[in-house]
Amino acid sequence: MVSTMTADAELYRRTLNRAHEHALVWLESMLDRPIPPRRDADQLAAAFAAPLPEKPTDPAAVIDELAELAEPGLMAMPSGRFFGWVIGGTHPAALGADWLVSAWDQNSGMRAATPAVAAAEEAAGGWLLELLALPSGSDVGFVTGATMANFTGLAAARHHVLAAHGWDVNRQGLVGAPSIKVLVGQERHVTIDLVLRYLGLGQPIEVAADDQGRLRADALAEALAAAGDGPVIVCAQAGNLHSGAFDPFAEIVRLAHDRGDAAPAWVHVDGAFGLWAGASPRLRHLVAGYEGADSWATDAHKTLNVPYDCGVVIVADPAPLRATFGAQTSYLISAGEGAPADPYDKTPELSRRARGIPVWAVLRSLGREGVADLIDRLARTASTIAAGMRAIDGAEVLNDVDFTQISVAFGSDERTRRVIDAVLADGTTWMSGSRWQDRAILRVSVSNFSTDAGDIEQSLAAVRRAVTAAG
Ligand SMILES: *Cc1c(COP(=O)(O)O)cnc(C)c1O
Repeated sequence: MVSTMTADAELYRRTLNRAHEHALVWLESMLDRPIPPRRDADQLAAAFAAPLPEKPTDPAAVIDELAELAEPGLMAMPSGRFFGWVIGGTHPAALGADWLVSAWDQNSGMRAATPAVAAAEEAAGGWLLELLALPSGSDVGFVTGATMANFTGLAAARHHVLAAHGWDVNRQGLVGAPSIKVLVGQERHVTIDLVLRYLGLGQPIEVAADDQGRLRADALAEALAAAGDGPVIVCAQAGNLHSGAFDPFAEIVRLAHDRGDAAPAWVHVDGAFGLWAGASPRLRHLVAGYEGADSWATDAHKTLNVPYDCGVVIVADPAPLRATFGAQTSYLISAGEGAPADPYDKTPELSRRARGIPVWAVLRSLGREGVADLIDRLARTASTIAAGMRAIDGAEVLNDVDFTQISVAFGSDERTRRVIDAVLADGTTWMSGSRWQDRAILRVSVSNFSTDAGDIEQSLAAVRRAVTAAG
Protein backbone atom coordinates (compact mmCIF):
# COMPACT_ATOMS: atom_id res chain seq x y z
CA MET A 1 0.00 0.00 0.00
CA VAL A 2 1.33 3.49 -0.85
CA SER A 3 1.54 5.82 2.10
CA THR A 4 -0.51 9.05 2.01
CA MET A 5 2.71 11.07 1.78
CA THR A 6 3.80 9.23 -1.36
CA ALA A 7 0.35 9.66 -2.87
CA ASP A 8 0.37 13.38 -1.98
CA ALA A 9 3.84 13.86 -3.44
CA GLU A 10 2.70 12.22 -6.66
CA LEU A 11 -0.39 14.43 -6.78
CA TYR A 12 1.70 17.56 -6.27
CA ARG A 13 4.08 16.44 -8.99
CA ARG A 14 1.28 15.84 -11.50
CA THR A 15 -0.57 19.05 -10.63
CA LEU A 16 2.48 21.31 -10.57
CA ASN A 17 3.80 19.84 -13.81
CA ARG A 18 0.51 20.88 -15.43
CA ALA A 19 0.78 24.37 -13.89
CA HIS A 20 4.41 24.65 -15.06
CA GLU A 21 3.44 23.69 -18.60
CA HIS A 22 0.53 26.17 -18.74
CA ALA A 23 2.75 28.94 -17.33
CA LEU A 24 5.35 28.40 -20.06
CA VAL A 25 2.71 28.35 -22.81
CA TRP A 26 1.34 31.64 -21.45
CA LEU A 27 4.75 33.33 -21.23
CA GLU A 28 5.78 32.13 -24.70
CA SER A 29 2.52 33.51 -26.14
CA MET A 30 3.77 37.04 -25.26
CA LEU A 31 5.85 36.99 -28.45
CA ASP A 32 2.90 37.25 -30.78
CA ARG A 33 -0.40 37.29 -28.94
CA PRO A 34 -2.66 40.36 -29.23
CA ILE A 35 -2.47 42.32 -25.97
CA PRO A 36 -6.17 42.70 -25.08
CA PRO A 37 -8.35 39.86 -23.78
CA ARG A 38 -10.74 38.36 -26.32
CA ARG A 39 -13.67 38.08 -23.86
CA ASP A 40 -14.90 40.38 -21.13
CA ALA A 41 -15.75 39.44 -17.55
CA ASP A 42 -19.47 39.17 -18.23
CA GLN A 43 -18.84 36.74 -21.08
CA LEU A 44 -16.50 34.65 -18.94
CA ALA A 45 -18.71 34.65 -15.86
CA ALA A 46 -20.93 31.87 -17.18
CA ALA A 47 -17.95 29.64 -17.97
CA PHE A 48 -16.50 29.97 -14.47
CA ALA A 49 -19.80 29.94 -12.65
CA ALA A 50 -20.90 26.41 -13.42
CA PRO A 51 -22.92 24.97 -10.53
CA LEU A 52 -20.75 24.38 -7.46
CA PRO A 53 -19.69 20.75 -7.78
CA GLU A 54 -20.92 18.25 -5.21
CA LYS A 55 -18.00 15.86 -5.62
CA PRO A 56 -14.19 16.34 -5.66
CA THR A 57 -12.24 16.64 -8.92
CA ASP A 58 -8.63 15.67 -9.59
CA PRO A 59 -6.48 18.80 -8.84
CA ALA A 60 -4.44 18.34 -12.05
CA ALA A 61 -7.65 18.30 -14.09
CA VAL A 62 -8.77 21.49 -12.31
CA ILE A 63 -5.52 23.22 -13.32
CA ASP A 64 -6.07 22.21 -16.96
CA GLU A 65 -9.64 23.46 -16.81
CA LEU A 66 -8.61 26.74 -15.15
CA ALA A 67 -5.98 27.44 -17.80
CA GLU A 68 -8.48 26.78 -20.57
CA LEU A 69 -11.28 28.87 -19.06
CA ALA A 70 -9.01 31.82 -18.25
CA GLU A 71 -7.08 31.94 -21.53
CA PRO A 72 -9.49 34.16 -23.55
CA GLY A 73 -9.85 36.58 -20.63
CA LEU A 74 -6.18 37.20 -19.91
CA MET A 75 -4.60 40.58 -20.70
CA ALA A 76 -1.01 40.30 -21.96
CA MET A 77 0.29 42.54 -19.16
CA PRO A 78 3.74 40.85 -19.11
CA SER A 79 4.26 41.77 -22.79
CA GLY A 80 6.96 44.24 -23.81
CA ARG A 81 4.24 46.01 -25.82
CA PHE A 82 2.05 46.68 -22.79
CA PHE A 83 2.23 50.36 -21.75
CA GLY A 84 -1.02 50.76 -19.78
CA TRP A 85 -1.35 52.27 -16.27
CA VAL A 86 1.96 51.50 -14.49
CA ILE A 87 2.27 47.74 -14.59
CA GLY A 88 5.68 46.14 -15.13
CA GLY A 89 6.41 42.57 -16.18
CA THR A 90 7.99 39.74 -14.26
CA HIS A 91 11.72 39.14 -14.19
CA PRO A 92 12.49 35.39 -14.39
CA ALA A 93 14.34 35.34 -11.05
CA ALA A 94 11.37 37.02 -9.35
CA LEU A 95 8.86 34.63 -10.88
CA GLY A 96 10.89 31.56 -9.98
CA ALA A 97 11.25 32.85 -6.42
CA ASP A 98 7.53 33.57 -6.25
CA TRP A 99 6.75 29.95 -7.17
CA LEU A 100 8.95 28.80 -4.31
CA VAL A 101 7.25 31.25 -1.96
CA SER A 102 3.91 29.57 -2.72
CA ALA A 103 5.38 26.08 -2.38
CA TRP A 104 7.18 26.88 0.88
CA ASP A 105 3.95 28.35 2.28
CA GLN A 106 5.67 30.21 5.11
CA ASN A 107 3.51 32.39 7.32
CA SER A 108 6.08 35.15 7.41
CA GLY A 109 5.26 37.33 10.40
CA MET A 110 7.76 35.97 12.93
CA ARG A 111 11.57 35.77 12.74
CA ALA A 112 11.72 32.75 15.05
CA ALA A 113 9.11 30.76 13.11
CA THR A 114 10.30 31.48 9.55
CA PRO A 115 13.99 32.41 9.83
CA ALA A 116 14.82 31.95 6.13
CA VAL A 117 12.14 34.43 5.11
CA ALA A 118 13.12 36.95 7.79
CA ALA A 119 16.78 36.76 6.83
CA ALA A 120 16.12 37.10 3.09
CA GLU A 121 13.72 40.01 3.58
CA GLU A 122 16.12 41.77 5.95
CA ALA A 123 18.87 41.36 3.34
CA ALA A 124 16.59 42.63 0.57
CA GLY A 125 15.59 45.59 2.75
CA GLY A 126 19.25 46.43 3.38
CA TRP A 127 20.05 46.22 -0.34
CA LEU A 128 17.11 48.52 -1.12
CA LEU A 129 18.32 51.17 1.33
CA GLU A 130 21.79 50.93 -0.19
CA LEU A 131 20.55 51.11 -3.81
CA LEU A 132 18.20 54.00 -3.14
CA ALA A 133 20.74 55.75 -0.85
CA LEU A 134 18.16 56.11 1.93
CA PRO A 135 19.10 56.29 5.67
CA SER A 136 20.69 52.99 6.69
CA GLY A 137 18.88 52.69 10.03
CA SER A 138 15.42 52.81 8.40
CA ASP A 139 12.83 50.09 8.87
CA VAL A 140 11.73 48.33 5.67
CA GLY A 141 8.36 46.57 5.49
CA PHE A 142 6.95 44.44 2.66
CA VAL A 143 3.27 45.14 1.98
CA THR A 144 0.85 44.39 -0.86
CA GLY A 145 1.52 47.52 -2.93
CA ALA A 146 2.09 51.25 -2.85
CA THR A 147 -1.41 51.90 -1.52
CA MET A 148 -0.59 49.94 1.62
CA ALA A 149 2.95 51.34 1.69
CA ASN A 150 1.44 54.84 1.72
CA PHE A 151 -0.99 53.72 4.43
CA THR A 152 1.78 52.26 6.57
CA GLY A 153 4.11 55.25 6.23
CA LEU A 154 1.30 57.71 6.94
CA ALA A 155 0.12 55.69 9.95
CA ALA A 156 3.61 56.08 11.44
CA ALA A 157 3.40 59.78 10.55
CA ARG A 158 0.06 60.12 12.33
CA HIS A 159 1.47 58.51 15.48
CA HIS A 160 4.59 60.68 15.44
CA VAL A 161 3.07 64.11 14.80
CA LEU A 162 0.37 63.54 17.42
CA ALA A 163 2.95 62.33 19.98
CA ALA A 164 4.91 65.54 19.33
CA HIS A 165 1.77 67.38 20.44
CA GLY A 166 1.33 65.34 23.58
CA TRP A 167 -1.28 62.94 22.19
CA ASP A 168 -0.95 59.14 22.23
CA VAL A 169 -3.15 57.95 19.38
CA ASN A 170 -2.76 54.28 20.39
CA ARG A 171 -4.27 54.96 23.79
CA GLN A 172 -6.49 57.96 23.15
CA GLY A 173 -7.69 57.38 19.60
CA LEU A 174 -8.52 60.20 17.24
CA VAL A 175 -11.59 61.66 18.92
CA GLY A 176 -10.54 64.92 20.55
CA ALA A 177 -6.99 64.69 19.13
CA PRO A 178 -5.22 67.82 17.87
CA SER A 179 -6.31 68.28 14.25
CA ILE A 180 -3.66 67.07 11.78
CA LYS A 181 -3.25 69.16 8.62
CA VAL A 182 -2.19 66.99 5.68
CA LEU A 183 -0.68 68.97 2.80
CA VAL A 184 -0.60 67.24 -0.59
CA GLY A 185 0.27 68.29 -4.12
CA GLN A 186 -2.63 69.00 -6.46
CA GLU A 187 -1.55 66.03 -8.60
CA ARG A 188 -0.94 63.44 -5.88
CA HIS A 189 -2.06 59.90 -6.63
CA VAL A 190 -5.66 59.07 -5.70
CA THR A 191 -4.44 56.42 -3.22
CA ILE A 192 -3.16 59.20 -0.93
CA ASP A 193 -6.76 60.39 -0.52
CA LEU A 194 -7.85 56.79 0.03
CA VAL A 195 -5.37 56.02 2.77
CA LEU A 196 -6.08 59.31 4.55
CA ARG A 197 -9.66 58.06 4.68
CA TYR A 198 -8.54 54.73 6.17
CA LEU A 199 -6.53 56.68 8.75
CA GLY A 200 -9.41 58.92 9.77
CA LEU A 201 -7.52 62.01 8.61
CA GLY A 202 -10.22 63.25 6.23
CA GLN A 203 -9.64 65.36 3.17
CA PRO A 204 -6.14 66.80 2.65
CA ILE A 205 -5.26 70.41 1.88
CA GLU A 206 -4.21 70.80 -1.77
CA VAL A 207 -1.03 72.67 -2.62
CA ALA A 208 -0.66 74.08 -6.15
CA ALA A 209 1.44 72.21 -8.73
CA ASP A 210 3.42 73.52 -11.70
CA ASP A 211 2.89 72.67 -15.39
CA GLN A 212 4.52 69.24 -14.96
CA GLY A 213 2.42 68.41 -11.90
CA ARG A 214 5.25 69.07 -9.40
CA LEU A 215 4.22 70.43 -6.01
CA ARG A 216 5.31 74.10 -5.92
CA ALA A 217 7.65 74.94 -3.06
CA ASP A 218 6.44 78.56 -2.82
CA ALA A 219 2.84 77.34 -2.50
CA LEU A 220 3.95 74.84 0.15
CA ALA A 221 5.62 77.61 2.14
CA GLU A 222 2.33 79.52 2.15
CA ALA A 223 0.30 76.44 3.08
CA LEU A 224 2.67 75.64 5.95
CA ALA A 225 2.40 79.19 7.25
CA ALA A 226 -1.39 78.99 7.06
CA ALA A 227 -1.42 75.61 8.85
CA GLY A 228 -0.49 77.21 12.17
CA ASP A 229 1.67 75.36 14.69
CA GLY A 230 -0.37 72.15 15.08
CA PRO A 231 0.60 68.72 13.71
CA VAL A 232 1.34 68.66 9.96
CA ILE A 233 2.11 65.91 7.45
CA VAL A 234 3.37 66.73 3.94
CA CYS A 235 2.95 64.17 1.12
CA ALA A 236 5.41 64.55 -1.75
CA GLN A 237 5.56 62.50 -4.93
CA ALA A 238 8.37 60.82 -6.86
CA GLY A 239 6.92 60.12 -10.29
CA ASN A 240 3.74 61.82 -11.50
CA LEU A 241 1.40 59.42 -13.27
CA HIS A 242 1.09 61.63 -16.36
CA SER A 243 4.42 63.41 -16.62
CA GLY A 244 6.74 61.20 -14.57
CA ALA A 245 7.80 64.42 -12.80
CA PHE A 246 9.37 64.60 -9.35
CA ASP A 247 8.54 67.07 -6.57
CA PRO A 248 11.37 69.37 -5.35
CA PHE A 249 12.25 67.22 -2.34
CA ALA A 250 15.16 69.25 -0.94
CA GLU A 251 13.02 72.37 -0.62
CA ILE A 252 9.99 70.44 0.63
CA VAL A 253 12.03 68.75 3.37
CA ARG A 254 13.66 72.03 4.41
CA LEU A 255 10.34 73.88 4.61
CA ALA A 256 8.52 71.05 6.39
CA HIS A 257 11.22 70.30 8.95
CA ASP A 258 12.04 73.89 9.82
CA ARG A 259 8.83 75.44 11.10
CA GLY A 260 10.42 77.80 13.62
CA ASP A 261 8.98 77.12 17.07
CA ALA A 262 6.45 74.55 15.81
CA ALA A 263 7.29 70.84 15.73
CA PRO A 264 8.68 69.63 12.38
CA ALA A 265 6.13 68.38 9.84
CA TRP A 266 6.53 64.75 8.74
CA VAL A 267 7.43 64.31 5.06
CA HIS A 268 6.17 61.20 3.28
CA VAL A 269 7.17 60.41 -0.32
CA ASP A 270 4.86 58.42 -2.61
CA GLY A 271 7.35 56.95 -5.05
CA ALA A 272 5.34 53.99 -6.30
CA PHE A 273 7.37 53.81 -9.51
CA GLY A 274 9.56 56.92 -9.35
CA LEU A 275 11.51 56.12 -6.18
CA TRP A 276 13.62 53.82 -8.37
CA ALA A 277 15.22 56.83 -10.08
CA GLY A 278 17.32 56.88 -6.91
CA ALA A 279 18.91 53.56 -7.92
CA SER A 280 20.35 54.98 -11.15
CA PRO A 281 23.48 57.16 -10.97
CA ARG A 282 22.31 58.80 -14.22
CA LEU A 283 18.79 59.64 -12.93
CA ARG A 284 19.46 60.12 -9.21
CA HIS A 285 19.39 63.92 -9.68
CA LEU A 286 15.61 63.60 -10.16
CA VAL A 287 15.16 62.61 -6.50
CA ALA A 288 17.79 64.96 -5.04
CA GLY A 289 17.04 65.64 -1.38
CA TYR A 290 14.48 62.83 -0.95
CA GLU A 291 16.73 61.12 1.59
CA GLY A 292 15.81 63.87 4.06
CA ALA A 293 12.15 62.76 4.17
CA ASP A 294 10.69 60.67 7.02
CA SER A 295 8.99 57.87 5.09
CA TRP A 296 8.85 56.50 1.55
CA ALA A 297 6.49 54.20 -0.31
CA THR A 298 7.29 52.25 -3.43
CA ASP A 299 6.24 49.23 -5.43
CA ALA A 300 8.41 46.31 -6.39
CA HIS A 301 5.66 45.02 -8.68
CA LYS A 302 5.98 48.05 -10.97
CA THR A 303 9.49 49.25 -11.86
CA LEU A 304 11.39 46.33 -10.28
CA ASN A 305 9.30 43.83 -12.28
CA VAL A 306 8.41 41.33 -9.56
CA PRO A 307 4.99 39.61 -9.64
CA TYR A 308 2.01 41.00 -7.72
CA ASP A 309 1.62 41.76 -4.88
CA CYS A 310 4.67 43.54 -3.59
CA GLY A 311 5.03 47.05 -2.20
CA VAL A 312 7.70 48.43 0.12
CA VAL A 313 7.43 50.94 2.96
CA ILE A 314 10.54 52.57 4.37
CA VAL A 315 10.47 54.61 7.57
CA ALA A 316 13.58 56.46 8.79
CA ASP A 317 12.69 56.34 12.50
CA PRO A 318 11.51 52.83 13.41
CA ALA A 319 9.92 53.95 16.71
CA PRO A 320 6.58 55.36 15.46
CA LEU A 321 6.24 52.53 12.92
CA ARG A 322 6.72 49.79 15.52
CA ALA A 323 4.55 51.67 18.02
CA THR A 324 1.77 51.64 15.42
CA PHE A 325 2.03 48.09 14.10
CA GLY A 326 3.90 46.10 16.74
CA ALA A 327 1.79 43.42 18.37
CA GLN A 328 2.68 42.12 21.82
CA THR A 329 0.68 39.10 22.80
CA SER A 330 1.43 35.83 24.51
CA TYR A 331 0.75 33.36 21.70
CA LEU A 332 3.20 34.99 19.27
CA ILE A 333 6.92 34.50 19.63
CA SER A 334 8.43 37.97 19.82
CA ALA A 335 12.09 38.66 19.62
CA GLY A 336 12.25 40.78 22.74
CA GLU A 337 14.00 44.03 23.71
CA GLY A 338 16.87 45.11 21.47
CA ALA A 339 16.44 42.27 18.97
CA PRO A 340 15.63 43.01 15.34
CA ALA A 341 11.94 43.68 14.69
CA ASP A 342 9.65 40.89 13.63
CA PRO A 343 8.12 41.39 10.18
CA TYR A 344 4.68 41.85 11.76
CA ASP A 345 6.03 44.80 13.79
CA LYS A 346 6.50 46.83 10.60
CA THR A 347 3.36 46.21 8.53
CA PRO A 348 -0.40 46.03 9.07
CA GLU A 349 -0.61 42.27 8.48
CA LEU A 350 0.09 39.44 10.87
CA SER A 351 -0.13 36.45 8.49
CA ARG A 352 1.23 37.01 5.01
CA ARG A 353 3.17 35.36 2.21
CA ALA A 354 6.95 35.81 1.99
CA ARG A 355 6.59 38.59 -0.55
CA GLY A 356 10.02 40.06 0.05
CA ILE A 357 11.70 36.90 -1.31
CA PRO A 358 11.13 37.75 -5.02
CA VAL A 359 12.68 41.17 -4.28
CA TRP A 360 15.75 39.44 -2.85
CA ALA A 361 15.94 37.19 -5.93
CA VAL A 362 15.67 39.94 -8.55
CA LEU A 363 18.22 42.14 -6.74
CA ARG A 364 20.53 39.13 -6.38
CA SER A 365 20.19 38.47 -10.12
CA LEU A 366 20.50 42.04 -11.43
CA GLY A 367 23.04 43.42 -9.00
CA ARG A 368 23.61 47.14 -8.58
CA GLU A 369 24.53 47.65 -12.24
CA GLY A 370 21.62 45.58 -13.48
CA VAL A 371 19.10 47.60 -11.47
CA ALA A 372 20.59 50.90 -12.70
CA ASP A 373 20.55 49.55 -16.24
CA LEU A 374 16.89 48.49 -15.89
CA ILE A 375 15.84 51.99 -14.74
CA ASP A 376 17.96 53.72 -17.40
CA ARG A 377 16.57 51.46 -20.11
CA LEU A 378 12.95 52.22 -19.13
CA ALA A 379 13.68 55.97 -19.27
CA ARG A 380 15.57 55.62 -22.57
CA THR A 381 12.67 53.65 -24.07
CA ALA A 382 10.28 56.40 -22.98
CA SER A 383 12.35 59.05 -24.72
CA THR A 384 12.56 56.93 -27.90
CA ILE A 385 8.78 56.46 -27.89
CA ALA A 386 8.27 60.19 -27.23
CA ALA A 387 10.47 61.02 -30.23
CA GLY A 388 8.48 58.57 -32.36
CA MET A 389 5.22 60.19 -31.23
CA ARG A 390 6.48 63.71 -31.97
CA ALA A 391 7.26 62.58 -35.53
CA ILE A 392 3.58 61.72 -36.09
CA ASP A 393 1.70 64.52 -37.81
CA GLY A 394 -0.66 66.25 -35.36
CA ALA A 395 0.69 64.47 -32.27
CA GLU A 396 1.75 66.60 -29.31
CA VAL A 397 3.76 65.27 -26.37
CA LEU A 398 2.48 67.35 -23.45
CA ASN A 399 5.11 66.55 -20.80
CA ASP A 400 8.87 66.75 -20.38
CA VAL A 401 9.89 63.11 -20.79
CA ASP A 402 12.61 62.84 -18.12
CA PHE A 403 11.52 59.48 -16.75
CA THR A 404 9.09 56.75 -17.86
CA GLN A 405 5.75 58.46 -18.56
CA ILE A 406 4.47 60.07 -21.77
CA SER A 407 1.22 61.99 -22.28
CA VAL A 408 0.26 62.54 -25.92
CA ALA A 409 -2.64 64.46 -27.46
CA PHE A 410 -3.72 64.15 -31.10
CA GLY A 411 -5.52 67.47 -31.63
CA SER A 412 -9.03 67.76 -30.22
CA ASP A 413 -10.21 65.54 -27.34
CA GLU A 414 -12.53 63.80 -29.74
CA ARG A 415 -9.76 62.94 -32.19
CA THR A 416 -7.46 61.78 -29.36
CA ARG A 417 -10.22 59.43 -28.18
CA ARG A 418 -10.62 58.06 -31.70
CA VAL A 419 -6.87 57.36 -31.81
CA ILE A 420 -6.98 55.62 -28.41
CA ASP A 421 -9.92 53.45 -29.51
CA ALA A 422 -8.10 52.54 -32.73
CA VAL A 423 -4.88 51.66 -30.84
CA LEU A 424 -6.79 49.36 -28.51
CA ALA A 425 -8.79 47.78 -31.34
CA ASP A 426 -5.56 47.06 -33.24
CA GLY A 427 -4.29 44.99 -30.30
CA THR A 428 -0.55 45.20 -31.12
CA THR A 429 0.11 47.43 -28.14
CA TRP A 430 -1.80 48.70 -25.11
CA MET A 431 -1.70 52.35 -24.05
CA SER A 432 -4.45 53.68 -21.81
CA GLY A 433 -6.43 56.89 -22.17
CA SER A 434 -6.53 59.54 -19.46
CA ARG A 435 -7.11 63.24 -18.88
CA TRP A 436 -4.30 65.66 -18.01
CA GLN A 437 -4.02 69.45 -18.14
CA ASP A 438 -7.70 69.43 -19.06
CA ARG A 439 -7.10 67.46 -22.26
CA ALA A 440 -7.83 63.91 -23.36
CA ILE A 441 -4.51 62.09 -23.70
CA LEU A 442 -2.99 58.78 -24.66
CA ARG A 443 -0.79 57.68 -21.75
CA VAL A 444 2.30 55.59 -22.34
CA SER A 445 3.90 54.10 -19.24
CA VAL A 446 7.19 52.30 -19.78
CA SER A 447 7.56 49.81 -16.96
CA ASN A 448 8.44 46.43 -18.47
CA PHE A 449 12.03 45.16 -18.32
CA SER A 450 11.51 43.13 -21.52
CA THR A 451 10.49 45.96 -23.88
CA ASP A 452 13.01 45.90 -26.73
CA ALA A 453 13.62 47.78 -30.00
CA GLY A 454 11.21 45.51 -31.87
CA ASP A 455 8.43 46.17 -29.32
CA ILE A 456 9.02 49.93 -29.62
CA GLU A 457 8.90 49.88 -33.43
CA GLN A 458 5.81 47.64 -33.60
CA SER A 459 4.01 49.80 -31.04
CA LEU A 460 4.80 53.08 -32.80
CA ALA A 461 3.70 51.55 -36.11
CA ALA A 462 0.40 50.60 -34.45
CA VAL A 463 -0.07 54.18 -33.22
CA ARG A 464 0.65 55.50 -36.74
CA ARG A 465 -1.98 53.09 -38.16
CA ALA A 466 -4.44 54.27 -35.50
CA VAL A 467 -3.82 57.92 -36.36
CA THR A 468 -4.48 57.21 -40.04
CA ALA A 469 -7.63 55.27 -39.13
CA ALA A 470 -8.84 58.10 -36.86
CA GLY A 471 -8.70 60.55 -39.80
C1 LIG B 1 0.39 52.70 -8.67
C2 LIG B 1 0.53 53.88 -7.77
C3 LIG B 1 0.05 53.85 -6.46
C4 LIG B 1 -0.74 52.68 -5.92
O1 LIG B 1 0.03 51.52 -5.94
P1 LIG B 1 -0.61 50.06 -5.85
O2 LIG B 1 0.58 49.19 -5.97
O3 LIG B 1 -1.54 49.97 -7.02
O4 LIG B 1 -1.31 49.93 -4.57
C5 LIG B 1 0.29 54.94 -5.66
N1 LIG B 1 0.95 56.01 -6.11
C6 LIG B 1 1.43 56.10 -7.38
C7 LIG B 1 2.17 57.31 -7.82
C8 LIG B 1 1.23 55.02 -8.26
O5 LIG B 1 1.71 55.07 -9.50
